[in-house]
Amino acid sequence: MGRHSLRPLVVLGATGSIGGQTLEVADQLNAPIHAIAARRGSDELLAIALRYREATVCVSDPGDQRDRFASELGSRVHFGPGALVEVSATPGCTVVNGIVGAAGLPSSLAALDAGNRLALANKESLVAGGPLVAEALAKGGGELIPVDSEHAAIYHCLNGEPEASIDRLILTASGGPFRGATKEELGAVTVSQALKHPTWSMGPRITIDSATLMNKAFEVIEAHYLFGIDFDDIGVMVHPQSIVHSFVEFRDGIVKAELGFPDMKKPIQYAITAPERVSAVHQPFSLAGHDLTFEDPDPDVFPCLRLGYEAGRIGGTATAVLNAADEVAVAAFLEGQIGFTDIAAVVESALDRHDSTMPHGIADVRAADAEARMYAREAIHELP
Ligand code: NAD
Ligand code: MG
Repeated sequence: MGRHSLRPLVVLGATGSIGGQTLEVADQLNAPIHAIAARRGSDELLAIALRYREATVCVSDPGDQRDRFASELGSRVHFGPGALVEVSATPGCTVVNGIVGAAGLPSSLAALDAGNRLALANKESLVAGGPLVAEALAKGGGELIPVDSEHAAIYHCLNGEPEASIDRLILTASGGPFRGATKEELGAVTVSQALKHPTWSMGPRITIDSATLMNKAFEVIEAHYLFGIDFDDIGVMVHPQSIVHSFVEFRDGIVKAELGFPDMKKPIQYAITAPERVSAVHQPFSLAGHDLTFEDPDPDVFPCLRLGYEAGRIGGTATAVLNAADEVAVAAFLEGQIGFTDIAAVVESALDRHDSTMPHGIADVRAADAEARMYAREAIHELP
């Protein structure tokens, strides 16, 4: 594929783990960068903006950096959350959504409404607003290509397969840093222990979610909305080496998997170039000397996985509540306000109090999100 056939990229979350790797992939592919966006007016964002001199720069929450950005970047900088949404609707672009949290949903919807390709790392778009994303995809005529490694794996396995032939999806999970721990041990873990992911280097929120298995709960919901599979037919298998990225079992008993050493640049690149495959530097794949192991997750030690299935089966705004309560709980854990096992308790309390409805628009998701944040904060105050 020639470099000229790649669509211009809008890189949301450009200062993050996914965003930074997207810019590296874009440089290798020589893909034009139409826009970059991040939350804060950081030195890092400014350095990126000065590297991509043609790009529009969106800062959702510039704080006291507004004047500095305006004087350095002039008319190509735009401020406020609305700027990210607007730039995501630029016709003919590929939007790589590497924002963390439900804050990524409006941009995902804008990209799909405009008929763009959405390369989606921001799983919270689907967790918070799955039905809205599905509707925007159908109406806008755009494309949704998963970047999350498990879903990218399933996407590859499903290539050319009729939907009716799928029996089951099996998502792999590394198990996080506390695989094999007991409930009692988890009660005492520290923030720095929870931030040490065994196989992937990622932003802090997803790293904590990987340690509680909430990340896998989100991914089960993500898979449900991406591939239209019932929750009963989505399984989770702990695989500490993270080499098998997921499995699809077909109705004739044939099982496909996608394998590789952990490297998010591979699914990012494919989401940009699909359906073409473009050469990228990689080591020849060999499993010699590697042991691949698999085990069932322990639902008693990791209740977040159960909460994910419960919220997913309730549907509607329940999964938006799951995400928002978890955002609050993880932030409180990172600040040392609550313990590791309190995260699940806080989320469960918010879910219990919420009456789910089917969201008809982003306002309904925002209302459920705000309600969940309030419930989560109350639950944190009431902790012993
Ligand atoms: P990160 O914390 O490294 O980066 C987050 C980015 O989002 C930053 O650029 C930040 O400025 C931006 N951001 C945060 N809040 C925002 C807001 N309110 N408005 C606009 N921008 C905002 O996170 P990450 O690890 O790159 O993860 C990004 C997303 O990708 C998450 O949804 C995560 O679950 C998913 N994901 C990440 C990985 C990975 O390897 N890092 C793998 C799979 C999926
Ligand atoms: Mg994943």
